[in-house]
Amino acid sequence: MRHALHALTDELRRLKTAGVSTVTVSEEALEHLRRVVVTRRPTPGPAGVGPSRTPEISPVTARPPAPARSAAIVSAVPVLPQVAVAALPPTPVVTLPAGDKQTRWDALLAAVLADPTCRAHVRPGKKVVLGVGSLDAKIMFVGEAPGAEEEIQGEPFVGPAGQLLTKMIQGMGLARAEVYIGNIMNWRPQMPTVDGREQVGNRPPTEDEIRYCLPYLRAQIEVVNPELLVALGSSATQGLLGFKSFKALGDVRGLWHEFGGKPLMVTYHPSYILREPSNRKKRLIWEDLLKVMERAALPITDKQRGYFLER
Ligand code: URA
Repeated sequence: MRHALHALTDELRRLKTAGVSTVTVSEEALEHLRRVVVTRRPTPGPAGVGPSRTPEISPVTARPPAPARSAAIVSAVPVLPQVAVAALPPTPVVTLPAGDKQTRWDALLAAVLADPTCRAHVRPGKKVVLGVGSLDAKIMFVGEAPGAEEEIQGEPFVGPAGQLLTKMIQGMGLARAEVYIGNIMNWRPQMPTVDGREQVGNRPPTEDEIRYCLPYLRAQIEVVNPELLVALGSSATQGLLGFKSFKALGDVRGLWHEFGGKPLMVTYHPSYILREPSNRKKRLIWEDLLKVMERAALPITDKQRGYFLER
């Protein structure tokens, strides 16, 4: 049993290093683990491994019962959650009107704000969120989903992760208003409710939620027509590259991919750094952004090339 626990914690560490923040574990697997722990009374796991230092584990609530298999507790694939989200209707068909970029974007905003499914997923008094920024941007960043601050203001990336993203953009020699910032989702995913109360926090969107919102992101890409896309984190990357198209974000980040005919750079989400700020992690993202700057023919100074190299 001790070996199994070591293997489990090692795997969780590996996933965390790869940028995975959520691991889905089925209720059956949890129950199986609990039974083993109770009957075998294992010695404690390695020091320093605890809930605050390992990826968050979210129990499955909507998946049909699976056969209990202790060997399949943790999946190496960055699994999107299987929360009890009501079935979503077919994905919306977004038709953009003729006209200039602003006319088309205004129509898109009106469409997403009127979308009954988006509206139904927004908490009372909170907002559906579309992208923000220059409609002539060369670079479009794509994040995951609005958080607490974003659903209040109705603007992506205005909370702590957004402030960090803004600094990263400024580090590239650009103003926030010169790029376009969107999300794979237009609403803040609802947390499971316990005793009729929604739990506090954020969760990554499900595949179905991402699929539903994707036409709105595609339409924003069509309107803005940026030269380059940058996916921030696992959810955005899964939405753009395809679900289960990679095992760990670390395998696809820092590389050029393609979405809708546009070059797509994959990098970590800024919240990856917020959780554990270190120059090593900042440098990883920064190296990806240097590639974006090169491809966008932005000037790069020696100082910029050396950011976060010092220990
Ligand atoms: N994280 C995201 O991915 N998007 C936001 O808008 C805010 C936080």
